[in-house]
Amino acid sequence: MGPRVRFAPSPTGYLHVGGARTALFTWLYARRHGGTFVLRIEDTDVERSSTDMVAGILDGLRWLGLDWDEGPEAGGPHGPYFQSERLVRYRAAAARLVAGGHAYYCYCSTERLRDEREKAEQCGEAWQYDRACLALPPERIAKLEAVAAPRAIRFKVPATRTAFDDAIHGRIEFDPRGIEDFVVLRSDKYPTYHLSVVVDDVDMAISHVIRGDDHLSNTPKHILLFEALGATSPVFAHVPLILGADKKRLSKRHGATSVTEYRRQGYLPGAMVNFLALLGWSPGDDRELMSVTELIESFSLEGIGGGNAVFNTEKLDWMNGQYIARLPVEELTAAVAPLLIDAGLWPNVGVDLQVRPADAWLHRLVDLLRPRAKRLTEFVDLARPFLTDTVEYEPEAVDQHLSVPGLGGHVAALAATLRTLDPFDEPRVEAAVRGTAAERGIKAGVLIHATRVAVTGRLASPGLFEVLVLLGRERTVERLERVVNLLATRT
Ligand code: GLU
Repeated sequence: MGPRVRFAPSPTGYLHVGGARTALFTWLYARRHGGTFVLRIEDTDVERSSTDMVAGILDGLRWLGLDWDEGPEAGGPHGPYFQSERLVRYRAAAARLVAGGHAYYCYCSTERLRDEREKAEQCGEAWQYDRACLALPPERIAKLEAVAAPRAIRFKVPATRTAFDDAIHGRIEFDPRGIEDFVVLRSDKYPTYHLSVVVDDVDMAISHVIRGDDHLSNTPKHILLFEALGATSPVFAHVPLILGADKKRLSKRHGATSVTEYRRQGYLPGAMVNFLALLGWSPGDDRELMSVTELIESFSLEGIGGGNAVFNTEKLDWMNGQYIARLPVEELTAAVAPLLIDAGLWPNVGVDLQVRPADAWLHRLVDLLRPRAKRLTEFVDLARPFLTDTVEYEPEAVDQHLSVPGLGGHVAALAATLRTLDPFDEPRVEAAVRGTAAERGIKAGVLIHATRVAVTGRLASPGLFEVLVLLGRERTVERLERVVNLLATRT
């Protein structure tokens, strides 16, 4: 039996990069050790949870390729996997804690608790619950019960010092005197996070809890609960936080934090997974580009450093560019095509695609453009000159390359040569451009730059001869002639 691990998001927000990285580490651990990856939705906060958020989280995990073995939609022997459907279990567990002497009823009103806290604060002291209800005489309890006074259940924190070995941070000791008798079941019969998380980790036979450092201070409470429920604590691994470039905790101030947003901005899931994996984890050598298979083979909790990781957007962009460069052209085209369709550029009925089938032509275009794209969304702009017949000339391109004296005649000569060139392939197109330049007594570069501006409107493009072949003879000649006319009207 391999390890059983879980990712337990609260659907009170989208899947942010921190959550996604925790999910990834947990998933990698399960896959590395032939374990089970459980997805559990912690939606006991009814007011702040929403089904849209659940759908968004599932969608984000799917996009990243983090499939779960048990959980929503997948089912499994330890369901239900939504905490909102498990309330009876938490109530039963709380009752068991009371019966076992590990917890007690607390009838204190919110007002009393607030007043006591404020009083202590005024004296500059931190207040801990004073166990008022632990010492209630039986007659008083009977009276309160007779009027069905609202009651919460509080855990009776034992006084003994204890410790646990965190898989990342090592041994952590804690003094329970710093922990108040915390509520496990509220007076509305809803569990607190501490109770539901522990009851579920026990019920779902979770062997390793991998979660963010922000939960480290909760873990002593959880360990006490595991003990009180007669269960063995899982191994805990608290993953350091992700910081922005300014070393502050990653937040919206730093840009996108939602996984869906990265998808929208044109990042590939493979690149995102690779990038997230290296945020705080290292394979122990200097590898950076790693496939999912390699990540699984190399993953270990020991490889997670104790320090916080910094989210470096330039590195993500670089990595995404590397993935774009390496993706099979069919897959890349499939990822780019929806963006071109959205931009109204594909399929473009106004453009007569000269090479059939159209898909093969699009593959060639995507292949030609990919060295210049760091994100999928950049393909839209790069592809524009190929998918529309309106050439938008960049002013600086015109200034730099279309103001050469006598250029109209040179371009007209090239257009004339290309009009009858057959076949219209790269070696012949190149020979034609260079030959025309030589005949006209100008440098090849002059004609190459002018031609680039004529057909793309831009200063920069992929290799010109490939560009011309992909555009085809007719459109190339037509665009050259357009520039000839333009130059004629200028003089
Ligand atoms: N629902 C908790 C959260 O989203 C998860 C806690 C845990 O992993 O134990 O922070």
